Parts: sequence; C-alpha cells; structure tokens
Amino acid sequence: MTDPLLIPCPDCQGLNRIPAARLEDSPRCGRCKGALLTGQSFALGSGNYAAQLKGDLPLLVDVWAAWCGPCRSFAPVFEQAAAQLQGRCRLAKLDSEAHPQLSAQLNIRSIPSLILFQGGREVARQTGALPLPQLLAWLRSQGI
Ligand code: ZN
Repeated sequence: MTDPLLIPCPDCQGLNRIPAARLEDSPRCGRCKGALLTGQSFALGSGNYAAQLKGDLPLLVDVWAAWCGPCRSFAPVFEQAAAQLQGRCRLAKLDSEAHPQLSAQLNIRSIPSLILFQGGREVARQTGALPLPQLLAWLRSQGI
C-alpha cells in the first residue's frame, strides 16, 4: 500500500489523502467533514461506483435485493464485518433492483453476491451468504 492512502469519501465522493498511521483516528473528509471510515456500509450505485472503486483500501460490495430472503438475513452479518474491518476494508451495498445496469455490468447471476475490489479491479467473488467467521476468513485469505 502507498502512504498516504487515497480514500474516497462515502458521502461526497471526494478523494482524501490519509497517512496510514491515522487510519485508526476516525479521519474526516477534507471536503464535507463527514467521517471517512464509519465502520458501516454505504450505498453503492451507478452515481458513485466509479469514484468509490478508486482508492487504496479494498472495497467489498454486497450485491443484494429487498425481495431476497438470504440477502436480508445476511445484512446484519455484513454490518458486523463492516464494524470489524474499519480502517482495513470499506464495505458497500449495491441494490441490484435499483441499479440493474450496474448489476449487469458486474455480471451478477445470483444474489447475494460479494465482490472484492482492490486498486479498482475485481480480485475475488463469492456467491451466497456466509456466516461472519467464514466471511472474515475469506477476506483474510485475500490479504485483508
Ligand atoms: Zn466528503
């Protein structure tokens, strides 16, 4: 990883430079002053996809839909992972119904789908929900 790290703001998409040593200090966005690393997932869509894929922290995307039961039961697990991975990985949720074009572009065949991006590229994908320990183990196997 480079230092300082480039981190896009989950609210205003502004790209921030944060020294690695300050990742634990609840860094704020230079543009909108919002928290950069919230320990919570944020919504990904066609409007912020390109901006959010940038940056030096990995981005884990949960592709879901409101009608999908397994997606709904996986949601709290994903939020727990977001809290545990704060400062190491950013987590976002992509509503496949609200953004069908983006889902098609990502070649989503079933949901929930988990896609891990690093350096703006997809590096790993997992289909189906996982219990928290398995989710964290899968991410560890990807170096997170
Ligand atoms: Zn901001």
